[in-house]
Amino acid sequence: MKPRDYDLEAFWMPFTANRQFKAAPRILASAKDMHFMAEDGRPVLDGTAGLWCVNAGHCRPRITEAIREQAGTLDYGPIFQMGHPGPFKVAERLKRLLPGDLDYSFFTNSGSESVDTALKIALAYHRARGEGQRRILIGRERGYHGANLGGVSVGGIPANRKAFGNLLAQVDHLPHTHNLEHNSFSRGQPAWGAHLADELENRIIPLHDASNIAAVIVEPLAGSTGVLVPPKGYLERLRAICDKHGILLIFDEVITGFGRLGAATAAELFGVIPDLICLAKGITNGTVPMGAVSVRKAVFENMMAAAPQDTIELFHGYTYSGHPLACAASLATLDLYEEEQLFARARDLAPSFENAVHALAELPHVVDVRNLGLVAGIELEPVPGKPGARAFEVFRRCFEKGVLIRTTGDIIALSPPLIIDQPQIDTLVGTLADVLRETAAR
Ligand code: PLP
Repeated sequence: MKPRDYDLEAFWMPFTANRQFKAAPRILASAKDMHFMAEDGRPVLDGTAGLWCVNAGHCRPRITEAIREQAGTLDYGPIFQMGHPGPFKVAERLKRLLPGDLDYSFFTNSGSESVDTALKIALAYHRARGEGQRRILIGRERGYHGANLGGVSVGGIPANRKAFGNLLAQVDHLPHTHNLEHNSFSRGQPAWGAHLADELENRIIPLHDASNIAAVIVEPLAGSTGVLVPPKGYLERLRAICDKHGILLIFDEVITGFGRLGAATAAELFGVIPDLICLAKGITNGTVPMGAVSVRKAVFENMMAAAPQDTIELFHGYTYSGHPLACAASLATLDLYEEEQLFARARDLAPSFENAVHALAELPHVVDVRNLGLVAGIELEPVPGKPGARAFEVFRRCFEKGVLIRTTGDIIALSPPLIIDQPQIDTLVGTLADVLRETAAR
């Protein structure tokens, strides 16, 4: 291994145990298709599509060339009261890709920004319609909606909230749907749990009054909190309750968008159309930061109609909204998804992926295996008094053996690029099985 020509100290790493990492770093040097190359030259099979974003695999020439070309043509263009072709083209493509009349897209630079943008649009929309008192935002326990203040407020991961006291005040949370007693070892959507959506109607609406509630935001499949697959009928029920009470439904599809579940979106897969949808990650195959919030026609039209002619309709945006490089990357990514039919490929691979991961059920300390599309969660029994330690050890050993997995607490998440093939699925799950046996035998 070449000696590093840089020091590790000054970079404050996100969501990382900095001191532990810097004592035993895991550094990636390059990537191609299904593999990273570690700094010591070892290939590492990417079992997580980076951070759930590299859906078409790494360093795809079509995308990298498009970025290169764009960088030499229009590197940046201001986007307030000015335009350039990229975002108009991507918005048009999203309109074709998304189900229902989610026809209008606002661009951001990340999932977190998409979430905060969606929450702001929801509030502004109600105000535009003369219902400005609708300010309460409903999230869900164990939800992850990024790291910005709005997303953390509606999010439901205690560790992400506890240090930051002053979150949004007018927020409530639905219960999560994870229940090992009823749902463990489900293949696909669990049969139990649709009734948990009724908490919206039975507790939250009576407590706050529907007329004060702006929106409900959920991940259709909760990813970062440990792969929680929606129970059959759950999302449909949330949609019906929101419709009944004039509450907007926001799907955070930052992870589930762009083929992860074997369809363009979870909304399409489940046949439940939200009013707003948050996208990011796979929109550029992870190459250039980009996010989007796509809204239904009625949301956009109400916002337009409420503002006087020739005035700004929404006082919101980012310097890099619809950045030319991000748009070039996105257009090439969307072409690649289409040409290689990657969403259908994910759907076709899902049954063999399901069989492979459920074979882990018999291994020591495995208390649950759950899956949908090309996502799986494998939950381990915690080491007493050391939450997360068992899964982290498994993560560390898998990396040593050339496989990247992801862990949250004691849950392992697998979400490989959609170009994975059967032998690679076998390597991914086989290595994980070996490590689970080894760590149990210690
Ligand atoms: N929403 C969901 C559902 C996510 O999974 C994530 C990131 O994993 C985010 C939002 C935040 O995205 P970003 O890290 O790009 O800000």
